[in-house]
Amino acid sequence: MVKSIGVLGAGQMGNGIAHVFAQHEYQVRLYDVFPAQIEKALKTIEKNLGRQAEKGLIPADSVPAILGRVTVVKDLSGFADCSLVVEAATENEALKLDLFRQLDEAVNKDAILATNTSSISITRIAAATKRPERVIGMHFMNPVPVMQLVEVIRGLATSDETFQVIASLVEKLGKVMAVSQDYPGFIVNRILMPMINEAIFALYEGIATAEDIDKGMKLGTNHPMGPLALADLIGLDTVLAIIAVLYEGFKDPKFRPCPLLVKMVNAGYLGKKSGRGFYMY
Ligand code: NAD
Repeated sequence: MVKSIGVLGAGQMGNGIAHVFAQHEYQVRLYDVFPAQIEKALKTIEKNLGRQAEKGLIPADSVPAILGRVTVVKDLSGFADCSLVVEAATENEALKLDLFRQLDEAVNKDAILATNTSSISITRIAAATKRPERVIGMHFMNPVPVMQLVEVIRGLATSDETFQVIASLVEKLGKVMAVSQDYPGFIVNRILMPMINEAIFALYEGIATAEDIDKGMKLGTNHPMGPLALADLIGLDTVLAIIAVLYEGFKDPKFRPCPLLVKMVNAGYLGKKSGRGFYMY
């Protein structure tokens, strides 16, 4: 049974994942290599809980207790007795392999190690540990407290027991699971990223303005937000990293990243999180 949960990485996704676990009575330990990210994450959690309380989604008097369930830890040894760790660090394979090697050493050997990766092979991440049967993909959607879906990805070695623990956890969070085989981008990003990349090509080729591309897709296909605004929300560095994994993984030119996306990431225009992407924030 899952009791305390470690969340590794306190960026956009890490803060949302910590929020949702704490909201559902789990003790959460939060770690990030940059202390400023932790501070920002704690403020974001408080602000988002306040918003949920204003909307009547949670009782206002539950907020202090939820916040009280999130403890900051100084390094991975703070996860030692967690029964689950969810990794939500930057989308970079070498980094994740290294973090899973370290987690494998630092965390109780019976614990499950999950990754929130958007695209990277769960099988390869699992192989970096001595417990591949207890490694799984648990892919939350952004923003985590709002979005219903959790994509669950089994690596080649993931055990049925691990899968069942995570499936019942998703249910306890009041979320809905979609199960994917372990191939680049899984379900959601395999389909979403080519659309976002194509929207960036449309802008690059001067077909329309960013506003009109987004208007076209919002009102023309009934999407809640346009692909360029969504790319800004996800983070353009993350979008580029995911498309690069698809391109490498399938060796198919249909996944080649648009040069404009590459240029924007090189400029540090990462979308909402950096204040500038296809739009200004
Ligand atoms: P982010 O850039 O907002 O946050 C990444 C965090 O990881 C940062 O706070 C960074 O300091 C931290 N980090 C980097 N190296 C670290 C290390 N060695 N140890 C501890 N922390 C470290 O990115 P994000 O959007 O939160 O994405 C995190 C993960 O979630 C990625 O794998 C991404 O693909 C996935 N994801 C993102 C989205 C999205 O919409 N942004 C959606 C689903 C999944």
